[in-house]
Amino acid sequence: MQQAINVAKFGGTSVANYDVIKNCASIVINNQNTKVVVVSAAAGITNHLVSLANTALTSEQITEVVEKIRIIEFKILNELKQPNEVDDKLFALLDELDALARHEELNFRDDLKDDLMSMGERMSSLLVAAILREMGCAAINFDARKVMRTDSTFTEAVPNVRAIRDLSEQLLAPEIKDSVVVTQGFVGADDDGRTTTLGRGGSDFTAALLAEALNASTCEIWTDVIGVYTTDPRITDNARPLPELSFEEAAEMATFGAKVLHPATMEPALRQNINVFVGSSKEPEKGGTWIRRNCDYEPSFRAITRRREQVLVTVKTPKMMYAQGFLERVFKIIAKHKLSVDLVTTSEIAVSFTLDNPANSISERINKETLTELSTICEVSVERHLDVVTVVGNNMHSAAGVSSKVFAAISDFNLRMICFGANVHNLSFVVSEKASGDIVKVLHKTLFEE
Ligand code: ADP
Ligand code: ASP
Ligand code: MG
Repeated sequence: MQQAINVAKFGGTSVANYDVIKNCASIVINNQNTKVVVVSAAAGITNHLVSLANTALTSEQITEVVEKIRIIEFKILNELKQPNEVDDKLFALLDELDALARHEELNFRDDLKDDLMSMGERMSSLLVAAILREMGCAAINFDARKVMRTDSTFTEAVPNVRAIRDLSEQLLAPEIKDSVVVTQGFVGADDDGRTTTLGRGGSDFTAALLAEALNASTCEIWTDVIGVYTTDPRITDNARPLPELSFEEAAEMATFGAKVLHPATMEPALRQNINVFVGSSKEPEKGGTWIRRNCDYEPSFRAITRRREQVLVTVKTPKMMYAQGFLERVFKIIAKHKLSVDLVTTSEIAVSFTLDNPANSISERINKETLTELSTICEVSVERHLDVVTVVGNNMHSAAGVSSKVFAAISDFNLRMICFGANVHNLSFVVSEKASGDIVKVLHKTLFEE
């Protein structure tokens, strides 16, 4: 019988320094099935790279930021037992990073930005592989760009699932026979071999895609919390970890703002029926959340999520009443400007919709050009400083008393827009960003603490 394969992903805080990387290495070594290790950049590095990529900085300012990155990487390097095994490679990556950061066209060219953004993961994978080796594990560092084929939408590239499977069979499967392969999350390459990235938080997605490509039976997401919680534990101390979740619930939570999973992570898991585990790399003994196709228990209320920085656009035209194709024209303009629409409500003469942060929120949500173009066909108004709060659960449309319980809990708050999801797993509210934290707390109290 073929050995079951596990893909383990470690996030930024899990690979932030030598000591925490050692925890990760122990987790890898303790599971014989772990054949692929996907790593994020060390905590803080990607944010530094984003600031280099998107801000016009003076040469001194660039030196300062690059120095901050160097310090984080050198601290890890210097704790290695045999730093000279990898130091040349790390120096070369840092030189490449420095040159890219000073490239004249960096701020205007997304392809250069992605080259630069990939450096964090390329450095951490080098160091994590070295630490695994010094702990006795036959680990190699593998360039994810050999297998993670994407389109050329730099900064938010779309993976080519078919090509990833074929390339993984050819190039990755032979490597995992004798070694543990450490590779970069978040990073890919297009058909021309140019470096791309999958959007912020994309390493979870990489792990799930590689798990799918290798027919893995499990995918572990090791992070800084002991699983997926009833709500973001940063919003309320009363949040508690969930032992299990269904694919649909997890996908819904990720889409509606639970940062612990990149929104697309569940797609490959669902296609290939891969069980996904979420746990803490610092406290692996505390267990975590198993996400699987079917759960023993499917409660009406499972969790509450919040997605920040939403933009609500209302387009209005008296002509809409009879105008066929008006919505199509509006959405065509939105699509042309690469914005994605989330929640929608309509009335006789108006349509309101929210625009989400693109997964990689380094670009503006709605720009002047989009507004100008929309204004040629209708009246447009834009509201900002809004969040979306979502209750995730099961059979929310049909179970008696579900919505009344939710509405009663938050009757004191002003709800700008209310949407039942097109599936049975969510009920969302657009609310002011000032009130969203309290709304989550009140809902959590009613739904999970009483
Ligand atoms: P990593 O760097 O490991 O990918 P992230 O910061 O991307 O980690 O995701 C982990 C964080 O997600 C947690 O620290 C937590 O604050 C946040 N989070 C938001 N919603 C949830 C939730 N429902 N359950 C657990 N964590 C959540
Ligand atoms: N390093 C990337 C980020 O910070 C990807 C990831 O960590 O998942 O967004
Ligand atoms: Mg993350």
